[in-house]
Amino acid sequence: MPSTATNIRGITHQTRGQAASDGDGVSLQRIIGTHDLSMIDPFLLFDAFGSDDPDQYIGGFPTHPHRGFETVTYMLAGAVRHKDNAGHEGVITPGGVQWMTAGSGISHSEMPEQEDGLLRGFQLWVNLPAKDKMTAPAYQEFAAAEIPQEQHDNHHIRVVAGTTSAGTQGAVTALATKSIYLDVSLKDGASFSQSLPPEHNGFIYMIEGEAVCGPDKTVLLPHVLGILGPGDTVELQAANGPCRFLLIGGKALHEPVARYGPFVMNTEDEIRQAFKDYQQGKF
Ligand code: FE
Repeated sequence: MPSTATNIRGITHQTRGQAASDGDGVSLQRIIGTHDLSMIDPFLLFDAFGSDDPDQYIGGFPTHPHRGFETVTYMLAGAVRHKDNAGHEGVITPGGVQWMTAGSGISHSEMPEQEDGLLRGFQLWVNLPAKDKMTAPAYQEFAAAEIPQEQHDNHHIRVVAGTTSAGTQGAVTALATKSIYLDVSLKDGASFSQSLPPEHNGFIYMIEGEAVCGPDKTVLLPHVLGILGPGDTVELQAANGPCRFLLIGGKALHEPVARYGPFVMNTEDEIRQAFKDYQQGKF
């Protein structure tokens, strides 16, 4: 008898990450990429930044390199200008995303495009498999209006990447990891369900409000990241009012990870080569 039963994913671990400073004095909350949570394969780093105090962000991220993975910047408020060594430049505005495949190497700056007011958003690092680490750098950039949305009676989804259970295809295609990146808003008491294949790892990040998640109805509070356990379906329900969260998932790569700062490769030798190539001005 064919089974259509779903296996609902629970929450195995919760963390608020730790306060950190990166770039030229930008205050942020590092949630993946810490001593306690070094990665959720294929996700290497997840930072949440949000401040209306320019002293906390004005320094931005002056020129720095990346090799071997993808960086994803998703803005909620304020704007960031990026500029790379290949002449690529643009501004990421509220509701917009930049999915940058650093591949063989890129050197860029990411600076606030404002002198005051609220700057709020996220940066995610998505690993690339060995076969794609030295691919040519590429960008997928979309303004808020270009991101597909799904409006339901009691919930709303902005589909940054991946495909929803209702079939809406996201703006970004992440071929290697088949990543899904949804920005979901639920009305009070509303439920949300999304399939996430068993070979994907994933997490929920609560932007605001509260939700209960999974068979155990684990409570997720604002600014908490909940790691999804095994299963094939994600289920959340808004609790104590409306809520908004990110659902992010990707196919685990199961490859060795050698990382040093802005370089993420498979071996230490490849890290040394990345430093050498960068010092020789190759990117
Ligand atoms: Fe960067």
